[in-house]
Amino acid sequence: MTIQYADLLTIGAGGGAYPAAFRLARAGRSVVMVDPKGLMSGNCLYEGCIPSKAVRETAEIYQSQRRFAERGLPGTITVDFAKIMAHKDSIQARRYQQHAADLAATPNIQLIQGEARFITPHEVAVDTADGERRFRCAQVIIASGSDVFVPPVPGAEFCLTSHDLYKPDATLKTLPERMIVIGGGYIGLETATFFAALGTRVTLLQKGRQLLNGMDPGMVALLTPLLDPSIRILTGVDVTAVEVTPEGGRRVHYTHGEENDTLDGDVVLMAVGRRPVIPAGAAEIGITVTRKGVAVGPDLQTVHPHIYACGDVNGRVPLFHAAVRQSMVAAHNILGGNIPMDYADFRHIPTTIFTLPAAAYVGITPALAEAQGIPLQTGRYDFEEDSRAQILERMEGGIQLFFAADSLRLLGGWVVGIDAGSLIGQIGTAAAHGLTAYDLARFADQHPMSAEGIGKAARSLF
Ligand code: ADP
Repeated sequence: MTIQYADLLTIGAGGGAYPAAFRLARAGRSVVMVDPKGLMSGNCLYEGCIPSKAVRETAEIYQSQRRFAERGLPGTITVDFAKIMAHKDSIQARRYQQHAADLAATPNIQLIQGEARFITPHEVAVDTADGERRFRCAQVIIASGSDVFVPPVPGAEFCLTSHDLYKPDATLKTLPERMIVIGGGYIGLETATFFAALGTRVTLLQKGRQLLNGMDPGMVALLTPLLDPSIRILTGVDVTAVEVTPEGGRRVHYTHGEENDTLDGDVVLMAVGRRPVIPAGAAEIGITVTRKGVAVGPDLQTVHPHIYACGDVNGRVPLFHAAVRQSMVAAHNILGGNIPMDYADFRHIPTTIFTLPAAAYVGITPALAEAQGIPLQTGRYDFEEDSRAQILERMEGGIQLFFAADSLRLLGGWVVGIDAGSLIGQIGTAAAHGLTAYDLARFADQHPMSAEGIGKAARSLF
């Protein structure tokens, strides 16, 4: 078998892979990306952030229209689910075209449809539809991402997953009347709010006592009462089985304390988490793999200095934009001869829960500060007084900024409600660059936009 050579081979072609692939290709290195989809952008575009937000934004328009209609403003609202899904598909197709054009315009880089596995630390086999190919690689980036975790519950195969719901030409063709969501993490909760806004009756079953397990309970407590009250949320529930009813619907069996109960729906979404995808052969060549994923530090290097692990596969911050930054760090360290010169900041990564309304946070928030004994001063701004929120009839929630009590340096913040996903970027930039409440208070944020609330939250301290 002929063995080809690559300066860099990426396992996966998602956010953890392609930024580095392009940077190195542009620097004259020969680059091979491998992905079973034969497409660039990984799960983010295929079944994650992009398609789910295409559905979210249309659902939010229906929700806003309904609010305005309550005040006698424009008209009839009919939800056309097929058109929403066609919109989602068209966004995916458009972005795939964009990526294909980028790829075609860049020399030194090829994308192979296949699955990669390690033979030795410097040799990777790629299984393709036409057989196996072998590469000798100076550097490898493991960016194989994560996959939906389906628990071993009997009948789990009768549930949809986020993959089925958001992939191109998704499985669900009509808007269900009743949906049961298993899992109160961000994917389950987001989807519950989208479908509720479109008119589906949603019941969400959460195993633990808190929704959005692992996130700051203070933020979750602000968000929960703002969610569509039609969503029935049952916590402390353990799903034991799922079955198909004689009418073709779904019946979920669960225990709630000492009680056994069942719940019927038209569809069930299983959303209990994601798991890192570890390429075959990784453990055999000595890569350290924990329950969270491939172990790496801020330099993204594995135990082999020429093998990096970026993105969801390392379990550090499983978000697309975190993967992109990590990929760039790996590229810089590769260009520096595998001697670390750039480091990922795992703390200042904005995270948004794109529920309707959304919640977003960054940096150190009160629960973490308390655990670490860091005294905070909190600056607050309420959207009740915000002009843009008033114009849009969306005055719920607000901004909270968390400053170090002594220096008033911004350590973190959260936003619940309007524009949360955008505002958190500005707060994250300020926190990552060590700005203080004085700096934020002196900045003339734009009126009448929700961002002026950031300066006002800082000024609330003085
Ligand atoms: P990230 O954003 O962390 O890069 P994604 O999950 O978006 O992660 O993308 C990872 C991509 O890697 C997915 O498209 C997945 O199909 C692909 N992948 C997973 N395992 C392999 C493998 N063994 N060889 C090649 N590609 C893989």
